[in-house]
Amino acid sequence: MGGQRKVLIVGGVAGGASCAARLRRLDEQARIIVFERGPHISYANCGLPYFVGEVITEEESLLLASPELFSRQFNIEVRVHHEVTRIDAAGREIAARDLHSGRSYSEPYTSLVLAPGASPVRPEIPGIDSPGVFSVRNVPDSRAIRGWISTRSPKRAVVVGASYLGLEMAENLARRGLSVTVVDLLAQVMPVLDPEMAEPVSRHLETHRVDLHLGDGMTAIERSGSGGLVLLTSAGARLPADMIVLSLGAKPEVQLARDAGIDIGRLGGIRVDDSMRTSTPGIWAVGDAVEVRNIVTGRPCLLPLAGPANRQGRVAADSICGRDTRFPGVAGTSVCGIFGLTVAATGASEKALIAAGIRQYQSVFLHPMQHASYYPGARRLHMKLVFSVPEGRILGAQAVGEEGADKRIDVIAMAVQRGATVFDLEEAELCYAPQYGTAKDPVNMAGMIAANVLRGDLLLARWQDLEGTAAVLVDVRDPHEFAAGHIDGAMNIPLGEFRQRLTSLPRHKEIWVHCAIGQRAYYAARILSQEGFTARLLPGGYETYWGYFP
Ligand code: FAD
Repeated sequence: MGGQRKVLIVGGVAGGASCAARLRRLDEQARIIVFERGPHISYANCGLPYFVGEVITEEESLLLASPELFSRQFNIEVRVHHEVTRIDAAGREIAARDLHSGRSYSEPYTSLVLAPGASPVRPEIPGIDSPGVFSVRNVPDSRAIRGWISTRSPKRAVVVGASYLGLEMAENLARRGLSVTVVDLLAQVMPVLDPEMAEPVSRHLETHRVDLHLGDGMTAIERSGSGGLVLLTSAGARLPADMIVLSLGAKPEVQLARDAGIDIGRLGGIRVDDSMRTSTPGIWAVGDAVEVRNIVTGRPCLLPLAGPANRQGRVAADSICGRDTRFPGVAGTSVCGIFGLTVAATGASEKALIAAGIRQYQSVFLHPMQHASYYPGARRLHMKLVFSVPEGRILGAQAVGEEGADKRIDVIAMAVQRGATVFDLEEAELCYAPQYGTAKDPVNMAGMIAANVLRGDLLLARWQDLEGTAAVLVDVRDPHEFAAGHIDGAMNIPLGEFRQRLTSLPRHKEIWVHCAIGQRAYYAARILSQEGFTARLLPGGYETYWGYFP
């Protein structure tokens, strides 16, 4: 090979294509060949639900690059419909099959990059292969769903799995006029969120007439007498459907790697170091197929998202070319739009921390407007910030709202990645004009509330401890708000009368205060603690109460 680098890449989408293009920018002399089993490279799988919903009308819009473009622009050879079937790591060559001609051949390499992605989970239950049951991974999958809709005119769809892909599919099927039921084994939608933050998402889905069937799993699919399908659940429900879309997550495609003796991690992904090197010399792996380190919990995780796959492709290319670039791990930053509602998260949720055995944290909730309330179009955001105690390191954040959720989470995502604290959020200098935010941005406010807690200016009560508490519950909203709905057993002392009515409160018990969203209760808590009471605030007020006790 005369010293010329020859890099073979398995998989031509997010991880593989970005690796190939970066390699060319670093090494003009290298021979680079991309093998792609499917018909396309560099397609926009993130756009597939919207192609089904006809928001994206032309299939060509999903194809971001072609083999011809890769050849012309990058001098990279792309072999579509070619599947890599075996790796001979000791001999440094792969075996591949041309899926059109059936011809098998071998190809030597100096470096090999595995970017085979992850395949949709399809549980082995009766009826799973029935016509009308779909997974969504690539352009042909979404074309098949569109074809089913246009030829069969289905009326009812069941989507199995309430994570971001399932809910995007639910929205797009509803957009095509189908009535949609979403089934999930978990008792909540959007598993990336804590349950109380998922509650507004459930309510929003229901206002868009999506039926939620939660806390119950699919056990079988049958054909109905009328030629349709029936989805059976473990609780005995029989849900009729004219089509079923599976969205049960994705499983790393590791067979090729496993057969070659490459280490596979405990979660089932290819094990890599921070240069994306596998355990086998000369072989790198990137994207949905690999396990990466979660920077908050420090544990390995699978994170099938396009951003990390692209960045890992670059890191692998750098490493192959001798550069000391490192992949720092993931915070798990994600966003999803559901019927006009944005759901965004970064870092760890509270339940993820508990699962990782991390207990030294606290959470605050806030429900600010996304921009100045006096400027037309103000909408409420629901936010949760989780931080370590006593250091105040930001561990995670979640936001749900019609506008502005993604922007706040993006800011906090950067803070999580830099190991910043709530005190940094307090001081963050962010852009402001009335149509964009508030002079004290929700990000600042989240930092201020958390910093108040850490400085001891504010004690928090936990909503989880509400039932059975011996504390006195005080609701400081105005009487008309209290009359419209309140927590059982709470007494109403409006903030305006608070100082005059302090004598009605016992000093030997804890006083737990709340209001609508937390601001007035904070003032009340400050009065109480300065008057010698032990006061705690129920964070996020009545708005958060609904999340915990829907
Ligand atoms: P893939 O994109 O899966 O590409 C792997 C390719 O390798 C495949 O085309 C496969 O055919 C090929 N391959 C596998 N084995 C072989 C072999 N042996 N020989 C040859 N070729 C092989 N992420 C986000 O961040 N935001 C989103 O909004 C979002 N939406 C999504 C919507 C959908 C419907 C889907 C399916 C995914 C979505 N994702 C989203 C996830 C994102 O697309 C993936 O994380 C990303 O594409 C992973 O890139 P990858 O290169 O690792 O794998």
